[in-house]
Amino acid sequence: MRVEPGLYIVATPIGNLGDLSPRARDVLAGVNLIAAEDTRHSGKLLAHFGIATPQISFHEHNERERSPELLARLERGESIAVISDAGTPLISDPGLPLVRDARAAGIPVHAVPGPSAVVAALSVSGIPTDRFAFEGFLPQRQAARRKRLDELACEPRTLIFYESPHRIVAALQDMAAAFGAERQACIARELTKLYETVRTGALAALVPAAEAEARGEWVVVVAGDPTPPVPQAADLDRMLTVLMAELPLKQAVSLTAKLTGASRNEVYALALARK
Ligand code: SAM
Repeated sequence: MRVEPGLYIVATPIGNLGDLSPRARDVLAGVNLIAAEDTRHSGKLLAHFGIATPQISFHEHNERERSPELLARLERGESIAVISDAGTPLISDPGLPLVRDARAAGIPVHAVPGPSAVVAALSVSGIPTDRFAFEGFLPQRQAARRKRLDELACEPRTLIFYESPHRIVAALQDMAAAFGAERQACIARELTKLYETVRTGALAALVPAAEAEARGEWVVVVAGDPTPPVPQAADLDRMLTVLMAELPLKQAVSLTAKLTGASRNEVYALALARK
């Protein structure tokens, strides 16, 4: 298949080779060059599909040096596909400098979408999917990890993390401490592979499950903070001022308390102070 000149960001399987899309196959077979995170690893995938396109290594340690060279080839009218070891490139994987530079140079950048562990895990988690925040990998050092988790404790959106087998247990323990032992979560291991395991429950209850089977690649999906946001003093003040100008004091206090979820006494005290 002839592939138009440009840069192609191609998703590859996260475990099950059957998940390589027909379009991904055509693009990988048709481009001039494949920039691969690990050419040996990708070589097996390409050989499985009988694809003989030349590869060049393109990983987090060389992507900045290599991007100008790839950009020059793209500017000469070549077509290049970027792939990572698994899933969608740029999602906790290399590729950002090249995509940014190609866009800036006016080179067409095409998505060839497909598997990504973040969406695969979310889709089977049973945890709300309408709003979510992908947090990638947590810091490796415990102090930094705990700090990051504390910052996320009040986040109302579903949170998604990638985790390695070495740190999954410690990460779940730290999450239980930061978010509360009862916060609902889902741990998804080895998705699309032979030993795929997906467990849901309270964070603290998931720790023993991870301890028993830590090996493999993990995604952790955590429900957002279920408590409604505490109104900021400035919001409360603003609302009270507007309502007090239009309504009798009692009614203004009652409405402000209802709308913000703040306590009636707190709002009443505020209203008296403003009179
Ligand atoms: N670009 C990839 C994607 O789109 O999902 C992610 C690459 S990141 C370097 C690798 C991490 O993704 C793993 O440590 C794990 O957290 C997650 N992951 C990848 N494949 C997975 C799988 N089959 N099951 C569960 N998690 C997986």
